[in-house]
Amino acid sequence: MRVVLLGPPGAGKGTQAKSLEKNLGVPHVSSGDLLRAAVEKSTELGLAAKCYMDAGELVPDALVLDMIDARISQPDCDDGFLLDGFPRTEQQASRLTEMLVSQGGPLEHVVSLTVGRSEVVERLAGRRSCPDCGRLYHLKFEPPRVQGLCDTCGKDLVVRGDDRDDTARQRVEVYERQTAPLIEFYRQQALLREVDGTGRPAEVTGRILTVVGATQ
Ligand code: AMP
Repeated sequence: MRVVLLGPPGAGKGTQAKSLEKNLGVPHVSSGDLLRAAVEKSTELGLAAKCYMDAGELVPDALVLDMIDARISQPDCDDGFLLDGFPRTEQQASRLTEMLVSQGGPLEHVVSLTVGRSEVVERLAGRRSCPDCGRLYHLKFEPPRVQGLCDTCGKDLVVRGDDRDDTARQRVEVYERQTAPLIEFYRQQALLREVDGTGRPAEVTGRILTVVGATQ
């Protein structure tokens, strides 16, 4: 199953992708995670991408396209994938369609998670993540068992650099300007499945599984 998760930063794409990965049995491919790993390792891509990410801007299409092409060409993506954070521009969306033609399988669903602007801003402000395993928490909606510590590995939780106030607001604006037009792009191709992204994460997962025709 080839699925794209679309939605503003803070809509819950990462959280949903993690539970969908188990339910659908296809790998979660997050462009943000791949870029953060490249920054961490100071690869050529990471060095080029860092300043855009720190400013809450999009990394140039050419860099992201090569990275995604390489990732979805790996054998674990042969039977499908769950794309999170990609595509984010019309050029990326068109190139993805071309890549999939050469890989022999088109997209089946583009799930658009809808969450209002004020809720997105509140979610981003309370978001914490584990620097070690990447697990996501929220101070109000999904707190860790022990305050400030990761349930899985016990590390101190951190605020991701680009979740800080100004950058977070910038990312929401960039989404509205550059990525939201993809909703129409995919609606015209009859691939769009709009899903209410509010409520408990498990409820949202249930709604997504229903629209993609899978069961829990
Ligand atoms: P995310 O974790 O998906 O919110 O991505 C974090 C940051 O990585 C974004 O704010 C962008 O700077 C960059 N990024 C992630 N995915 C893309 C993409 N598809 N195109 C351009 N930049 C991206």
